[in-house]
Amino acid sequence: MSKPAPFAWNFCPICGESLESRDDGESPRPHCERCHRFYYLNPVPAACCVVSDGQGKVLFVQRAVEPAKGLWSLPGGFVELGETTEEAALRELEEETGLRGRGARLFGVSTQQSPISGAVVVLGYRLDGWEGDMEARSDAMDVGLFGAVERPPLAFQAHRELLAAYDALERPSPADESLSRP
Ligand SMILES: [Zn+2]
Repeated sequence: MSKPAPFAWNFCPICGESLESRDDGESPRPHCERCHRFYYLNPVPAACCVVSDGQGKVLFVQRAVEPAKGLWSLPGGFVELGETTEEAALRELEEETGLRGRGARLFGVSTQQSPISGAVVVLGYRLDGWEGDMEARSDAMDVGLFGAVERPPLAFQAHRELLAAYDALERPSPADESLSRP
């Protein structure tokens, strides 16, 4: 895939006018003189789920679309206007895998620079439970549960960071181990 151009505002998406740089009181920003509107370059929020089988395996999705087509990731995607980040995580899970999750709880956040979006803030959710028949759906060519040593390399740095955070939470702490010792 050819490299995308850096993210930028050049034209007003409402009226099509060329944007001029104007100070909004803080910094120079792209501004539409006709619509009296500033445009901002902000990270895009995304949400993903770590779905566990309760036996140490975690659900991964093989991507059927660019970027990173053919590579594996956690189920997830961009948050749409009109939904919460929890709803986005559960919607993406069902769209990609057919599974309906419940009780999404935030366990971590990762911010990554992105050539396509400028930057992405990815919220990681774990679930209280899930149900349904697992199958690869939209944006996915395969889905599967993988144990710790079988995990495929992940496409996105944000997902690698979030999975490491999840593993650290799941791992019994030394205090717990000493408690369970006879
Ligand atoms: Zn305009």
